[in-house]
Amino acid sequence: MSASQTDAIVVGAGFAGMYALHKLRDELGLSTRVFEAGNGVGGTWYWNRYPGARCDSDSYIYCYTFDKDLLQEWEWSERYPEQPEILRYLNHVADRFDLRKDIQFGTRVTGADYDEATKRWQVRTDAGEVATAQYLIGAVGCLSASNVPAFRGMDTFRGKSYHTSSWPHEGVDFTAKRVAVIGTGASAVQAIPVIAQQAKHLTVFQRTPNFCVPARNGKVDPDVARTRKANYDAIKENIRNSYFGFELNFIMKSALEAPPEERERVFEEMWDHGGFPFWLANYQDMFFSKEANDVCAEFLRRKIRETVKDPAVADKLTPKTYPYGTKRQPLDTNYFDTFNKPNVLLVDVNDSPIEEITPNGVRTRDREYPFDIIVFGTGFDAMTGPIKKMGIRGRGGEVLADKWADGPTSYLGLMVAGFPNFFTITGPGSPSVLSNMPVSIEQHVEWISDCIKHMRESGVETIEPTPDAEVRWTAHVAEVANTSLMPTANSWYMGRNIPGKPQVFMPYLGGVGPYRQHCAEVAAKGYEGFTFAT
Ligand code: NAP
Repeated sequence: MSASQTDAIVVGAGFAGMYALHKLRDELGLSTRVFEAGNGVGGTWYWNRYPGARCDSDSYIYCYTFDKDLLQEWEWSERYPEQPEILRYLNHVADRFDLRKDIQFGTRVTGADYDEATKRWQVRTDAGEVATAQYLIGAVGCLSASNVPAFRGMDTFRGKSYHTSSWPHEGVDFTAKRVAVIGTGASAVQAIPVIAQQAKHLTVFQRTPNFCVPARNGKVDPDVARTRKANYDAIKENIRNSYFGFELNFIMKSALEAPPEERERVFEEMWDHGGFPFWLANYQDMFFSKEANDVCAEFLRRKIRETVKDPAVADKLTPKTYPYGTKRQPLDTNYFDTFNKPNVLLVDVNDSPIEEITPNGVRTRDREYPFDIIVFGTGFDAMTGPIKKMGIRGRGGEVLADKWADGPTSYLGLMVAGFPNFFTITGPGSPSVLSNMPVSIEQHVEWISDCIKHMRESGVETIEPTPDAEVRWTAHVAEVANTSLMPTANSWYMGRNIPGKPQVFMPYLGGVGPYRQHCAEVAAKGYEGFTFAT
C-alpha cells in the first residue's frame, strides 16, 4: 500500500475534474491529484458511447469558456456535438493543459475520511491506496451512478446486455439481431432510431412516454460559426447570466394571454428551430401554471399523433400523466417516426409489466419476448448517487450517505456542514442539471478556487457551512422548486426513478445567473454562512 500527500484531491476527470485540476494546479499552484475510474478523461463522454449519443446543448456553448485561445482554435462540426467529438475535444484540452500527468486513471475512490486531528482528508482507492489532502473536490458528475433495475432473473440471460452508460468501446453490432430497449428517457430516445435502422427487430419497453422535440441537428453555417467566434465575450457573458446557461430567454407573456394564432405561430417556430427553446424559452408561465402548461403540452401531443400512423401506438407514446417539461426534455431525431417501422414494437409496461428476465429474453405478464441483445436505457441514481458512492465520512465519522438519508442537504450545493474542505461541483442544491453543464461547472470551479485562494491568503485551514446556513439554503431550494410544477412528475430530479430514494427535488431552480450572483455576494461578504478555522 502506498500513501501520498497533496494539497488537493479531485475525484473525477470529466469536464468538472479537468478544469478543477487546471485551476488548482496551474493557477493556485496547489499540488493536486485526480483519481478517475475510467481509463481516459471525459467522464460522461468517456462512458456513454451508445449509438446516437450526442449532446443536447448546442456545441458552441457546450465547451469551456475560460480560455480564449481554446475557444478560437476548436472547430465543432455540427450543431450538437456527437459523443466521439466531445471526447476528442476533452482529450485535446487534457493535452493542451498537460493534465494527464496528475490524473490516475483506472482508479475508483472507495472511501474518504476526514481526520480532525490533522485536518486532512484520507482518501482510499480500489487499488488499496491511501492518499491524503487538505481539500477534497467531488467532481463525480450528476449522472454517473447507473441504475439497472433489479428484475428477477437478470443474470440468467444468455444473450448480451448493456447499459447505455457503460457501452463497449468497440461498439455493438445489431445486424440481424432481435433487440430490446428498456426505457425511453433522453438516452434511449437518441439510441432507439439508430438501433432500429440496424436491428432485425426492436422491441421498446416503455414505462413513461416522453414529450420529445426534434433536435434538428446539422452542419453549422460557417458564417454563423465565424460570427460566434468573433462574439465569444458577449456569448460568455450572456450564458453566465442567463436562467439556464443557454442563449435563451422566456417569452415574457402568459401562454394563456397570447392569442391562439400567435401562440400556434410561436410554437411552430420553436418546433422548427429544434432543440431546447420549446422547453427553456417558452411562455414564462409554462413551468408554473398547469393551464399554461397544458397548452404547450397539447401542441406536442398533437405532433405525436400527426407523426405516428397507428393511433393505438400514438396513444401509448403520448404523455398524459405529468406536466410538460417537468421531466428532462429529450431531443430526438426521428424518434416517433421510428415506431412506424415494421420492425419496431412498443410495449407499454404499465399494461404488461416486466416480470422477469429469462435465459431467452424478457417475460412480461402477457408473454415472453425472445432477444439476442437487451439494452438498458434505465438511467441513473442521479446527483446524490455518485457522491454517496465515494463513501464520504466527515467530522466525528458522520457518514454523508446517512446524513442524506432523507434527501440531500447543502449550502449553495457546494458544501455540507460537518464535512470541512469537501466541495461538490454541480452538487444537489445548485442549478447543475437544470443548466447547460459546462456553464455551471465553470462557475463552481471558479468559486471553489477563489475560496481556496482566499483561505490561503488569510491563513485559514478549513471552511465549512454553518448548520443554520445549510438548513436555510436547503429550505430555499425546496421552496423555489415548489413554486413550479417540477416536483409533480415522477422524474429523476425528484429521485422517483429509484425505488426507496427520498423524494426531494434535488437541483436548484433559481436560475444560473441569479445563483451565480448570490454565490458571488456570499463570497464578497466574507463567505457569509461559512465558518473558517485555523
Ligand atoms: P432516464 O431519463 O432516467 O430514463 C430512464 C428510462 O428508463 C425512463 O424511461 C424510465 O421510466 C425507464 N425505467 C427506469 N426503470 C425502469 C424499470 N424498472 N422498468 C421500466 N422502465 C424503467 O435516463 P437516461 O435516458 O439515461 O437520461 C438521464 C439523463 O441523462 C437525461 O435526463 C439527461 O439529463 C442526460 N442525458 C443527456 C444527454 C445529452 O445531452 N446528450 C443524452 C442522454 C441523457 P420512467 O420515466 O417511468 O422513470
